[in-house]
Amino acid sequence: MSAGAPEAGAPVAVGLRTRYCGTPRAGDAGAVVSICGWVAHRREHGEHLAFVDVRDHTGLIQCVIDGSQRLRAEWVVRVTGTVRLRPEGTVNADLATGDVELGECTVEVLNEAEPPPLDLDGHQDTDEAVRLRYRYIDLRSTRMQRNLRLRAAVNAAIRHVMERQGFTEVETPLLWTPTPEGAREFAIPSRLQHGAFYVLPQSPQIAKQLTMVGGLDRYYQIARCMRDEDLRADRQFEFTQLDVEASFVTEGDVRSFITEAILEATAAATGARPEPPATLTWAEAIERYGSDKPDLRFGMELVDCTAVFSRTAFNAFRQPAVVAIRVPLAGEFGRSRLDALTERARGLGAKGLVWMRVRQAGESLELDSPVARFLSGDERAELASTTAAAPGDLLLLVAGEKRASCAVLGQLRADLGRPPVAAGPYRFCWVVDFPLFEGRDEDGDLVAAHHPFTMPHPEDLHLLRSDPLAVRALSYDLVLNGWELGSGSIRIHRADIQSEVFDALGISREEADARFGFLLGAFGYGAPPHGGFAVGLDRLVAILAGEENIREVIAFPKTQSGTDLMTGAPRPLGQRQLAELGIRVVEPPRRG
Ligand code: ASP
Repeated sequence: MSAGAPEAGAPVAVGLRTRYCGTPRAGDAGAVVSICGWVAHRREHGEHLAFVDVRDHTGLIQCVIDGSQRLRAEWVVRVTGTVRLRPEGTVNADLATGDVELGECTVEVLNEAEPPPLDLDGHQDTDEAVRLRYRYIDLRSTRMQRNLRLRAAVNAAIRHVMERQGFTEVETPLLWTPTPEGAREFAIPSRLQHGAFYVLPQSPQIAKQLTMVGGLDRYYQIARCMRDEDLRADRQFEFTQLDVEASFVTEGDVRSFITEAILEATAAATGARPEPPATLTWAEAIERYGSDKPDLRFGMELVDCTAVFSRTAFNAFRQPAVVAIRVPLAGEFGRSRLDALTERARGLGAKGLVWMRVRQAGESLELDSPVARFLSGDERAELASTTAAAPGDLLLLVAGEKRASCAVLGQLRADLGRPPVAAGPYRFCWVVDFPLFEGRDEDGDLVAAHHPFTMPHPEDLHLLRSDPLAVRALSYDLVLNGWELGSGSIRIHRADIQSEVFDALGISREEADARFGFLLGAFGYGAPPHGGFAVGLDRLVAILAGEENIREVIAFPKTQSGTDLMTGAPRPLGQRQLAELGIRVVEPPRRG
């Protein structure tokens, strides 16, 4: 390929360079090229010769330079030289440019640099605080370059698919007003109206619903959302979601728009379109996996053993439900490990955990457990066959209320069986038919499982007053490998149903008017039936990049305590600015 031609993975070289560092190959031998980048390594070779690897985002290339040339790590250089084949025995098969080097080099130093505070080759082992403080250097690492470009590829694919499906990108305001999604919001003081505040949107939920009233028909946005919640591996204050809303659609339509987007995004990131998502009802997900975000990459499904113990003499099992999981190859767990599991189950709210190590005893199976002697022979045999136990397995059983017992075992299943993020494959799953309400608060009011605009399942409308906790919603979550990627619903567009749901939630007419009167007002002017969804892109990209922590796919993330180590934000404001905003800072309340 001639110098200056475009190549896979690298743009056309312009300006100070004629090629990117990672692109010269044996076929280029003889070409004179100019590359630009950062000095990655320098190795002296005798008195007069040095090998310098120069790096840009496409890779690195070895340049043979005059030993007297001053050059240090991370200096910015332009090197002009002739591509030549490396002498036999010095070819580096691990490097894309490993067959060649640049000889007869002229090196221009474009900028000198301080010694770098972190080692880009071993940057995984560097203290994360150092990486975040010097994020602009950390971004030069192969890992961060790959992750950010993968993220960009996912965004590009998503935009492409959404446009193809007839969606229009609309930017909604960042200076917004509180919306009822339950998260704590960031408040922005108004300079022009002292004492009044905007909030940063925790999602464009209301704005996107208003675009439906506005006849946009199919809206999408790669939207930044802000929630002032504690930070975790899968949560930052700011995050990005693919936010979607469409009119005159069914739940299934919304799911298929989103399915197409995530399958294409995955294909763009990994080169292969994954299997389409499985679909489970919420009740099935709880029953089989003890979780509404099941990881389908492995088995260990929950087994309902209630019937086995329906007439048991063993007191601990005389409960509404007895649920089990079978952990393959864990039959050798020692006492301390089993005690730790029991503690974990108690910590999760179980009264206790029964374990049984499955052993071969002659022709039959033996259940080795402190409680085995309290069970009849029939119960033991039936338990073994119901759980399909085999020698070497460990059975774990929890007895109590059905849902709570499933939740405990669902967590143990994840603790014991969940493969690392990077292990793949990508097992997407829709969880549908969520309950409309997730329980009651201290005042006895129902709490919305999604948000108060979620449409109850039409078949369950008659239960709204008599048995509200049994009402299903037209809402659905998307799950990938045990991570909740997002949720959505068909919305309520009729005032009568909305008031019934507000009543159930204990939201008075006055409160509803004060908090989102503008939305309810808009619904009086011809709201079409509509529904939507939001996919958390930080999480999706993290999983596709094989990263456990979303910070690895965010250019400038915050630490656990919400600090930006590079800029020092958040910081106090000066007196003048505070005065302008009409703000007086008071001492924080004492803790404890
Ligand atoms: N606004 C919801 C969220 O951010 C998603 C939706 O219902 O569309 O989770």
